[in-house]
Amino acid sequence: MEYTLVKKLFPICRSITGNGVRKSLNILQEHIPLEIHEVPTGTNVFDWKIPKEWNIRDAWIKDPDGNKIIDFKQNNLHVLNYSTPVSKNIPLQELKEHLYTLPEQPDLIPYRTSYYSEKWGFCLSHNQFQQMKEGDYEVFIDSDLSEGSLTYGEFYIKGKSEKEVLISAHICHPSLANDNLSGIAASVSFAKSLLQQELQYSYRFLYIPGTIGSITWLAQNEGKLINIKHGLVLSCVGDSAGFTYKKSRKGNSETDRIVQKVLSEKERSHDVREFIPYGYDERQYCSPGFDLPVGCLMRSHFGEFPEYHTSADNLDFVKPEALQDTVELLKNITEVIEGNRIYINQNPKGEPNLGKRGLYSKTGGMQMTGSRKMAILWVLNLSDGNHSLLDIAERSGLPFHEIRDAANSLLGVGLLKEANKD
Ligand code: ZN
Repeated sequence: MEYTLVKKLFPICRSITGNGVRKSLNILQEHIPLEIHEVPTGTNVFDWKIPKEWNIRDAWIKDPDGNKIIDFKQNNLHVLNYSTPVSKNIPLQELKEHLYTLPEQPDLIPYRTSYYSEKWGFCLSHNQFQQMKEGDYEVFIDSDLSEGSLTYGEFYIKGKSEKEVLISAHICHPSLANDNLSGIAASVSFAKSLLQQELQYSYRFLYIPGTIGSITWLAQNEGKLINIKHGLVLSCVGDSAGFTYKKSRKGNSETDRIVQKVLSEKERSHDVREFIPYGYDERQYCSPGFDLPVGCLMRSHFGEFPEYHTSADNLDFVKPEALQDTVELLKNITEVIEGNRIYINQNPKGEPNLGKRGLYSKTGGMQMTGSRKMAILWVLNLSDGNHSLLDIAERSGLPFHEIRDAANSLLGVGLLKEANKD
C-alpha cells in the first residue's frame, strides 16, 4: 500500500501552497479521514506571514530553432519551485542567470525553490546545459502568485488519554520520492493501522508544508502542545539504507529512549544522531519556546545521499520493503509508548514464591524460558514505583515486549500494582 501511494503522489507538482498540496491531501483522504485546513495569505504566524498561494499550469523553454528543450510536463523539477510567470524571448547569456544545474552530478536535474524572493527559473541537467547553443530562447512559465491560502492536513485519533503522540511529515516537495513521499506514505499506513486498535494515547498526524506549515500549526494550536508527550518527524524513510534517528532537543526524552531501544532490539542497522537546529520540522517543534519531545526518523540522512534533492530521488530509489519495514518500526515504537507503565511489587520482602503461583514452571501454558524468567525477576526487583518498564528493559537489556509480558503475568497473579498515574 505504501509504495502504491508514493507512486500515485509522485507526478503531482507540490509546493508550500497551491493545488498540488490539495490534490495530494485529497488522495490521502482515500485512506484516512483527514481534515483539510486552509489558512489565508497574510495571516501572521509568529514571526512569519502566510505567503501568496502559488499555482502552475505549464512551463517550457524553446531553443533558437523552436524546439521545446525543457518541458515542465516531462518533469516538474524543471521549474524553480514558486517561479513567477514569464513569457519572452531572451539571449542565452541572459537566460543563464535563470538556470540551475548540478555540475558535480551532470545527469541529474536539481530541485530548487524560491519561496520568499520573487523570481523565475528553470532547473536542468548540466549535460543538457552544456549543449545549449548561442541564440535567442523563448521562455514560458504559466504560473501565478496570488491571494489564497496555505493548505495542510490533520488527522487526530482519540485515545483513552488526552496525552498525545505527534507524527509530522512535510508535503511541499514536488516529484521527489524519498524526500518526502516516503514519510507521507509511511505515516498514512501507520495511521490506518492504529484505527484497528484500542489506544491509550491520542495520535495526531500532520501533513504540512515544511517550516511555514509547522510554524502555522504551532501558532494556531499552542494550547494543545501541553498534551504532546511523544513526537516524530518522518522523512526519507523509503530508501534501502538502515535507520537514522535524530534525537529531540531534550536529548533524553522518553521518545528518544524508546526509539533507540526499539532500533537496537531487532538488530536493525541504525545510526543515532544528536539534535542540531537544522533539518526538517523538528527544528520548529524543538525551538526553545516549545522544546517538544520530537525527534526525526529517517533512513538515509537528508543531504547525505547523492540522490537528495535531485531527479534521482525517484520511484526506483524508494523500495516497497523499506517502506513496509518503516511502518513496522513505527508499530514497534507504539507498542512501547502504549505499554510503558510504572508498577509496584506487592511482595517486596524477599522474592515471592513464584512456583506456588504457577509462574516458575509455566506461564499461560507456555514453558518458562531463560529470558522469560529473567524478565520476571527484573520486573519484580525494579518495580518499586520509581522505575518504568522502559527503565527495566534498558537496564536488563531484554526486549521491551518480554518485560511487558512478564509484567502482565505478574499482574495476573496480583504481584504488581500500577503506581499512581501522573
Ligand atoms: Zn527536502
